[in-house]
Parts: sequence; structure tokens; C-alpha cells
Amino acid sequence: MKVVSTINEIHAARRSFSGTVGLVPTMGYLHEGHLSLIRRARDECDHVVVSIFVNPTQFGPSEDLSKYPRDLDRDLKLIEPLGTDLVWMPTAEIMYPQGYQTWVEVEAMTRSLEGAHRPGHFKGVTTVVAKLFNGVQPHKAYFGQKDAQQAAVIRQMTRDLNFPLEIVVCPIVREPDGLAMSSRNVYLDPEQRKAATVLYRSLSAAKDAYDKGERDAEKLRQLMKDVVASEPLAQMQYVSCADYETLQELENVTGKSLLSMAVFIGKTRLIDNFVLE
Ligand code: AMP
Repeated sequence: MKVVSTINEIHAARRSFSGTVGLVPTMGYLHEGHLSLIRRARDECDHVVVSIFVNPTQFGPSEDLSKYPRDLDRDLKLIEPLGTDLVWMPTAEIMYPQGYQTWVEVEAMTRSLEGAHRPGHFKGVTTVVAKLFNGVQPHKAYFGQKDAQQAAVIRQMTRDLNFPLEIVVCPIVREPDGLAMSSRNVYLDPEQRKAATVLYRSLSAAKDAYDKGERDAEKLRQLMKDVVASEPLAQMQYVSCADYETLQELENVTGKSLLSMAVFIGKTRLIDNFVLE
């Protein structure tokens, strides 16, 4: 497994590959969710590239950039046995050298949900992902359904900018009690960790109602809010029942839809979602 950092190095490594290339972009501090993407890429592509970069431009001024968990040695030990060919770990100076001034921005669909509460977040995400695509020039890029809006925004960017690659979105990997795996779960103390299952419990309550025939989106949103409100350590930021593709809030659930939410457990902001088919 080769590890590179500069743009020249990633381009040279890319040129050495023949056959299909799969890219798995991550911010490191890897868990089973990330590893599931790498395994899928390994199954589907001749070469697998994992990028590890805590992208400063997608963090707001009051967010957790400086304390975002990092453990590169552990990450490399987890990645290697999966048959990863190449790890790209650029620095912020490599990605955003002095004088940097070019940004990629997806418009309408980044204004709701995560975008509404994290101004500038998706501009940072789409810019860095476009740069990762240019560096690695993959045939397929793998993202998690965990970040549902991010996956939708990247699909849109890929279409709009004609990146010649396929976006593969992989299912959410969860802890046995339903909590979606996240690098941020390490911030939770034991009591908060228990409370954090409220996202899964709340999404499950809405899904149960949907399975029993409820199609009124506001009723589904209210059900989710009620479950979150019943957890003393949880502070809801938003709940949503939206169209899967456009992310517009729905009145009635007719086609493929997304139940999603952001909840603070103490200072830790967690997100989760279910897809209604
Ligand atoms: P991150 O390192 O948090 O930027 O995540 C890198 C990629 O892993 C993103 O595409 C995430 O959506 C995906 N991912 C994170 N957590 C999970 C999870 N629990 N299940 C599946 N994919 C995940």
C-alpha cells in the first residue's frame, strides 16, 4: 500500500494504474462505516484509493475542526488489510495553497437541512471533492448514505460538471443498538452515548407509522420531534421528511423520500436518516 500526499505524487500514482479505479474519500478516524465503502470499492474496482483529509473549508468557525479526532497510524492499519492500493493524505497547504481562490458551489439543494444550519459547509465539501476527483480521476467514487444530503449534492455536482465517473452510495452502518457509526461518536460520554440512540428510535417511530400507512409528512415530522423531546439529553436542531432527490420538504409522502434529522447530544451534533421507498 502506497501513501502519498502531494498533487504530483497522486497524479504519478494514478498514471501507474491500469484498469478501473475506485475512490473512497474520508476525513479519517475510520470506523466500520468507512471500511464498508472500501470493501465495496475493492469488490468493484481494479484499484482502490482512499483519501484522508480533514477538510478545513467545510467546517464553520464554531465547529469542531481543531478537535476533530485524528489517528493516522490506526487508520493505515485498518485500511491496509482491505487491499487498498493507495492512500492520499494531502495537507491543507497542498489543497489550498496561498492565493487559492476557486470554489465549486451547488445552489438550491444546499440551502436546506444541513446547509441551512452549516452555512458554507457544502461549498467546502463540493470544492474538496472536485479536487479529489481531479487528483485521483476515479471511475467510481464511494459515499455513505449516512450523509444523505452530501451524497445528493455530490451526485448533482457530478452531473452538472460532467465528471466522468459513477457515484456509488452505500448503506448506513450502525452499532448494535442502532446508533449510526460516526467519527464524532467518540465525543460522547457513557450517558450521552445511551441518549444518542434517540435518533434511531425517532426515525424508527416515523418509519413504523409510515409502514402502517401514515403518509402525512407533517405527522411523521411531529412523531420524530416527540421522540427527540422525550430524551432529556437531546436537543433537536431539525427533523425533515423530504423528497429523496430534491430534498424539498413534503406535505404527503408519495415517492421515494428521506426522513432525516440533526440532534445535539450535549455539544456533539449527530445526524441520521432513513429512506422511505
Ligand atoms: P467522513 O470521514 O465522516 O467524512 O465520512 C467519509 C465517508 O464515509 C462519507 O461518504 C460518509 O457518508 C461515509 N460514512 C460515515 N459514516 C458512515 C456510516 N455509519 N455508514 C456508512 N457510511 C458512512
